Amino acid sequence: MNTRADLPATIYNFSAGPAMLPLEVMQQANAEFLNWQGTGVSVLEISHRSPQFMAMVREAEQDLRDLYRIPDNYHVLFVHGGARHQFSMVPMNLLRNKTTADYLHTGYWSQQAINEAQRYATVNVAMSGEASNYTSLPEPNTWQLDPSAAYVHYTANETVGGLEFDFIPETGEVPLVTDMSSNILSCPLDISRFGLIYACAQKNISSSGLTIVIVRKDLVGQTVVNTPTMFDYRTYAENGSLYNTPANYPLYLSALVFKWLKQQGGLEKVAAQNHEKSSLLYQAIDESNFYHNTVEPRYRSTMNVVFRLPNDDLHPVFLEEASKAGLRHLKGHSAVGGLRASVYNAMPRAGVERLINFMQEFAHKHEQ
Ligand SMILES: *Cc1c(COP(=O)(O)O)cnc(C)c1O
Repeated sequence: MNTRADLPATIYNFSAGPAMLPLEVMQQANAEFLNWQGTGVSVLEISHRSPQFMAMVREAEQDLRDLYRIPDNYHVLFVHGGARHQFSMVPMNLLRNKTTADYLHTGYWSQQAINEAQRYATVNVAMSGEASNYTSLPEPNTWQLDPSAAYVHYTANETVGGLEFDFIPETGEVPLVTDMSSNILSCPLDISRFGLIYACAQKNISSSGLTIVIVRKDLVGQTVVNTPTMFDYRTYAENGSLYNTPANYPLYLSALVFKWLKQQGGLEKVAAQNHEKSSLLYQAIDESNFYHNTVEPRYRSTMNVVFRLPNDDLHPVFLEEASKAGLRHLKGHSAVGGLRASVYNAMPRAGVERLINFMQEFAHKHEQ
């Protein structure tokens, strides 16, 4: 039974990931869980070589291509594991006989990517936001990009710090690689500017175990020695992402979400809604003397809105009262503390409005 049918009216889930899914998608998944497409079995119980499953994967790929208008010279790959697997797969596949790679250091996740890449390459940290405590980005004309680097890696949206690039870095002939785990499909994108885009599924797409990779075809096929078969993009590219058993359920949910995004009117529409939601929240923060966000306005994330209260002792009180009001998972990442409202594509505007009402009442009650 769909016992959650009436819940989203009362519970809003602001988790950074795994994050909430669109209600319509959850309802459809629920309705066809036991009998998928008239097969009499669950999508979890069917061969990945069955015509139905293979058709679903190809349709999912086509829907993603349509949403992003992905050019033909790019592969769309459904890869196992999380974004952290890509921290290794990117250098293993893209160094291509070079020894150095440029990384932009903008906070927690880019640091994690740098740490892993250092096992394979000499990492040139071409820019760091450390001086501003990762609340801003140094001007591109101050970046120390190396024209002979194998690629330039950046984290398009820092999920922990709530900082998002509002432009695509210019890297000339050097392939641009980006971690879009927390802002994939949040707005339209000129894919042709990139060598490779990756995103784990459990933030703005579906559930964990699956990572989407969009990669220019000419960059695939030359790996560092001893690269495991399942870490070679070519394995996925040559086999339609079905070389071995794929992450079936997250892939199925992704297929539903891509259709849902098309039904929303595509990424332009979704981007406008996202902009509206996060703007409302930032406005509520800025208009109060109680809530604070220190990210330079231009780089504030549309997806992950971080904020703090005048005194850290109030954070647990806020979380407890918010939870009672049906506003869940607002705790900031343990690396930085504070509070964080993740407002991905699936978060309805009504959830943001409820949060703002709650924040205003809470401030009123606790302001000295
Ligand atoms: C969540 C996240 C990751 C880590 O993803 P896993 O799937 O847990 O490995 C990496 N990068 C960014 C930007 C993230 O938000």
